[in-house]
Amino acid sequence: MKYKRILLKLSGEALMGERQYGIDPQRLKEYAQEIKEVVAKNIEVAIVIGGGNIFRGVAGELNGMDRVQGDHMGMLATCINGLALQSALEDEGLQTRLQTAIEIKEIAEPYIKRKANRHLEKGRVVIFGAGTGNPYFTTDTAAVLRAIEINADAILKGTRVDGIYTSDPEKDKNATKFHSITFKDVIEKGLKVMDMTAFTLSEENELPIIVFDMNKTGNLLKLLSGEQIGTVVNNQ
Ligand code: UDP
Repeated sequence: MKYKRILLKLSGEALMGERQYGIDPQRLKEYAQEIKEVVAKNIEVAIVIGGGNIFRGVAGELNGMDRVQGDHMGMLATCINGLALQSALEDEGLQTRLQTAIEIKEIAEPYIKRKANRHLEKGRVVIFGAGTGNPYFTTDTAAVLRAIEINADAILKGTRVDGIYTSDPEKDKNATKFHSITFKDVIEKGLKVMDMTAFTLSEENELPIIVFDMNKTGNLLKLLSGEQIGTVVNNQ
């Protein structure tokens, strides 16, 4: 296997499936099954999940809400998704822990790096909820931060597109895909992979980012088995 420990970033929107809002139980189940296959190969899996399917702080601000208040709601939304994912993973027979950056200790463990490491060593899937615990950040930044903290080999960003393209493949049919690209080239070409805070944190800490299509069955395992799936962003 290519990597021993991964951090998987799933957006909240991915959980919507075909819906306009909330969580699609079928999509959740499919993700849980994909993750189960990876755990069966003794890969240690940590997950950061977004909250965009429920609430985004920016949306609150547009409607006149205080931004920080909105971000608190967004962070709680990631916890709701985390609980849903935890339940789906447990239905597949996996052992899991949800650790949150904001204490809700009756529901989830607080984030403690050493505990997270221990859970991962024991083969438990660790879900990190509540982002970084701070307003004005995104769950992409939380994903990079946690990946660095737990020494993950790479961050895998599961999206609807199967990698990074020269331009938006949903709009431009001549767009071509990169199999790999450097952090520097992503910036020079003005491509969008993650928000800049997340991206530079990854670059500075030499953490590879792999963008891939999580909705294609078997892709996650194929990628980890060394098949050329998605696009790798790294320093070479
Ligand atoms: N959020 C935050 N701090 C963080 C992570 C997230 O305040 O460290 C809030 C923010 O309001 C954000 C929302 O939680 O809009 C949901 O996260 P995100 O937009 O990253 O979710 P995704 O786009 O991955 O679904």
